[in-house]
Amino acid sequence: MPNIVVVGAQWGDEGKGKVVDLYARDADAVVRFQGGNNAGHTLVVEGEKIILHLIPSGILHPGTVCCIGNGVVVDPGVLLDEIRGLRDRGRWPGDEQLVISPAAHVILPCHRALDLAREARAGRHQIGTTGRGIGPCYEDKASRTGIRIADLLDPGTLASRVEALLDEKNALLRHHGAEPLDPAAVIEGLLAAGERLRPFVGDVAGRVHAWTRQGSRVLLEGAQGTFLDLDHGTYPFVTSSNTTAGAACTGTGLPPRDVHGVIGITKAYVTRVGRGPFPTELTDDLGDRLRERGREFGSTTGRPRRCGWLDLVGLRTACRLSGLSGLAVTKLDVLEGLPEVRVCTRYRLDGETVDFVPPRAEDLERCEPVYEALPGWSDSIAGCRTLDDLPANARRFLDFVADATGCPVVLASVGPGREQTVEIHNPFAA
Ligand code: GDP
Repeated sequence: MPNIVVVGAQWGDEGKGKVVDLYARDADAVVRFQGGNNAGHTLVVEGEKIILHLIPSGILHPGTVCCIGNGVVVDPGVLLDEIRGLRDRGRWPGDEQLVISPAAHVILPCHRALDLAREARAGRHQIGTTGRGIGPCYEDKASRTGIRIADLLDPGTLASRVEALLDEKNALLRHHGAEPLDPAAVIEGLLAAGERLRPFVGDVAGRVHAWTRQGSRVLLEGAQGTFLDLDHGTYPFVTSSNTTAGAACTGTGLPPRDVHGVIGITKAYVTRVGRGPFPTELTDDLGDRLRERGREFGSTTGRPRRCGWLDLVGLRTACRLSGLSGLAVTKLDVLEGLPEVRVCTRYRLDGETVDFVPPRAEDLERCEPVYEALPGWSDSIAGCRTLDDLPANARRFLDFVADATGCPVVLASVGPGREQTVEIHNPFAA
């Protein structure tokens, strides 16, 4: 039985939450593999809107085990609030359905404080971080000074590690003009959170191996998107983890040979939050129309998203980087009513044609999009459930995307609701 990875194929906010929730119906487990609570995955189920930041988007399906893999960074307070929020709304399936890897790193108060203090001082060099401490936490993971979930359950180890870490972080905070933190208070808070998280801590990598051996179906859930990848994205305007499909293995312990398919989620247009190159950006009325109709305001930060035409050069590159076996095209409904829909098929850079996103953000900044215009459709498609229900020009748009990327479109989303979906091929089907 297959293990399927889901990644964002653009700059995040593609609608991964909706698609993971939908596919979780057929999965025995959903494992989140990177990022932290800088993600905001929105699910709309039976008219109720639920935003998840850390808990995998399969949590609404009773019987589907949800895991937070070792590649994720966890803010314990945010996770506990999220669990409480789901409980209060009668949406908590039971404690046995959430498993947190002991090797996941913990976001500490000093990480949040440093994130905010640095960004405030960065002026025009700001990278648009969400200020949640994600970057500083991954920094400590790489420098081997970080605190892991397992440490929260071991008071002796925790105290000495936090004291050593704060010795350095408090000096940095002072340097940035921020208040230093009291180690004793930090340790007390972490131990209290650890006690509350204890029932959920378990060997995620071991379970993933066992599920794979048993032939269970595991969905591996990514956050952010391809061009925010720390290595392959538009550095430095990127996130601090790898967002492409390889991270599904390193972030969970799943061997690469046990990945059976990778679904890339893309909007029918493009959005980006924060700074960084964006070749197909629309800064005119059309951009405003996409933002309004698509409600393009961040679910985590409320920031307005920059909007533009679908970039097939980007999508082709995402297919290559993650070995996409299928594309899920979301927000097709947002394009309805436009007389013509444009798609960027290639770039021009210094008089040359460019078919793939160049690795340097500085080069991408200078790329000019070359568009093809496709006929639009005026009918509302929110009620469509099959390919045949879609207007011919909407189908033609999907065919064009598949042809230009060489990757089949396996799903089209026509509204935020779980049911507002045209499923073309189920990735869990043989
Ligand atoms: P994620 O981070 O990739 O999960 O994406 P977000 O949740 O930040 O953003 C996607 C937003 O679009 C959410 O508000 C979804 O409810 C909404 N959404 C998802 N699919 C569709 C769709 O097909 N049409 C419309 N209109 N909204 C959608």
